[in-house]
Amino acid sequence: MVRSSNIVCKIKFILLLTILFIYANTISGEDINISILGLFKPQEIRLCSGSKVPLEVTLDNGERMYVGDNYLTVSFSGDHLEVKNSLYQRRPGMLYQTRGLEVKNPAGIKAPPFFQIGIPGKLYRYYRGRLQILTGEDALTLILSVALENAVETITFSEIQDSKDQNFITAMSIVVRSFLLSEQDRHPDEPFQFCDATHCQLYYGNDAVVDSTLIIPQSRDLVMTFNNQLITPFYCHSCGGYTADPEDIWGHPLPYIIPTICPYCQASENIYWTATLPRDGLIELFGTDFSNIRIEQDSLTGIVKKVRLNGKNGSLDIIGEDFRIKVGQKFGWGEILSNKFDIEDAGDVIHFTGRGKGHGIGLCLLGARQMASEGKSYVDILNYYYPRVRLTPLQKQHD
Ligand SMILES: [Zn+2]
Ligand SMILES: [Zn+2]
Repeated sequence: MVRSSNIVCKIKFILLLTILFIYANTISGEDINISILGLFKPQEIRLCSGSKVPLEVTLDNGERMYVGDNYLTVSFSGDHLEVKNSLYQRRPGMLYQTRGLEVKNPAGIKAPPFFQIGIPGKLYRYYRGRLQILTGEDALTLILSVALENAVETITFSEIQDSKDQNFITAMSIVVRSFLLSEQDRHPDEPFQFCDATHCQLYYGNDAVVDSTLIIPQSRDLVMTFNNQLITPFYCHSCGGYTADPEDIWGHPLPYIIPTICPYCQASENIYWTATLPRDGLIELFGTDFSNIRIEQDSLTGIVKKVRLNGKNGSLDIIGEDFRIKVGQKFGWGEILSNKFDIEDAGDVIHFTGRGKGHGIGLCLLGARQMASEGKSYVDILNYYYPRVRLTPLQKQHD
């Protein structure tokens, strides 16, 4: 007995080492590529250095220019980019055309470049990392390449915003790291792995990082595993009192996520929302002249699983998640904020009263923040929202 359990232990140990080795190789020296500012569909950006070190910009034909006290204007022009260097603005002919460009630090400087990007009239943000600018379908595509831990810090602080609670921040950083390592195929047909919007994870650039020392150092190589496999720890803004079963939202379960009661976000007024949509718009959207709209099926945790439109020509059932997505595509994503809502038919308009924001699966950001403020550790927080998951050290290989 002892011998066989020893062998099983050894096999498990070797298996674990193999898996960790695979993870380590996946990330060793590999930067994470994130598409930034895509939601703005930028037609023109301004680029300047964020420090005294000039940026080295290389065009697709190998031509190089430097951006120090000057700035660069890059415009989208169909199948190519137009690049103008501010120093040469008064000299005609100094307009460059290229299919893409790369921004780095000059040779000999090891640190990643630090720069500011402006979308005139909209925003200016600082970023750290290598930058590529390409022509997208209808706008510029900006791709930032950053080391894993830089991405972890920036995303963590972008997602948690103004908190300074070490345990909340640390819990999120482990979630973010695991997400980055496990979800690298979210944009399979694009030249980047992640976007900076809620589809992936928020990435607001350097200004977002309040104080990276708030991440507890011992947590820096922890990732989340289930049965010795790295998992994707989905998370949401607020679950509205009960975290969701992925099966109720996406139609398939995830073995490492189970719904959990969340008393922690319930005290926050931030979890409640209302929306009012025009009846005509919904008729047009779903192609049926309905006389009555109601929830046909919901889950024990309050997730709307089916919405029914009753009309003259029979009834139409719409899966809850499809309903939210279709309404979002037509009326904007700021209307139906979660899959937990009630419907009130008021004639020309339909009122929705909901709770929770996001899909409600996994860690609830508002709840986790509240837990940390009550003195819970980052381990307590992660154990609470992912009770089947273990925290596993990831042996990293730096180049
Ligand atoms: Zn994305
Ligand atoms: Zn919650």
